[in-house]
Amino acid sequence: MAVLNRRQFGDPLLRETARRMTKSEILSEPIKHLIADMRQTLRTNELGVGLAAPQVGESVALSVIWIEPTAQRPHVENFSATIINPKIVSSHGRRVQRWEGCISGGSHGTADLFAKVPRYNDVDVEYLDEKGNQHTETYTGLLAQIMQHEIDHLNGILFVDRVKDTKTYMTHAEYRKMLKEAS
Ligand code: ZN
Repeated sequence: MAVLNRRQFGDPLLRETARRMTKSEILSEPIKHLIADMRQTLRTNELGVGLAAPQVGESVALSVIWIEPTAQRPHVENFSATIINPKIVSSHGRRVQRWEGCISGGSHGTADLFAKVPRYNDVDVEYLDEKGNQHTETYTGLLAQIMQHEIDHLNGILFVDRVKDTKTYMTHAEYRKMLKEAS
């Protein structure tokens, strides 16, 4: 396994619509390796909770999600998923403003910039797992937010495109300070 180089905002690949994969491609050796390397890459990232294949230079519709409790988020539950060809089939309720950053929005594999992004609190997502099995799941709160961020990546959309209140932008240092003061 390897930690992969991450593409940064401004890289045209991040603006492409990622290619959907067939079941046989999902089960192929190159994709198995890509998934293993993406998981490894995400685990080495302190604030990262999701990584889309275009962020490591592969324009295929695949994201990995990995959440575990940290000092910044001690109350979250462990969660891990690989979502392939994902699609939001429905979203519910009003959008709420949530803090967000992006691994590609920084030069050292971590986000340099954070802002509040309006996201639906509940979404139903259809996707294939790494074995090619189909799922439809409902996600709420943090998981719903991550799903929306990740699926946006596969459609060439970055969180900065979604920010409504641009006065919420803050640097990594200020974001950490805010989290520390809030805890
Ligand atoms: Zn991102």
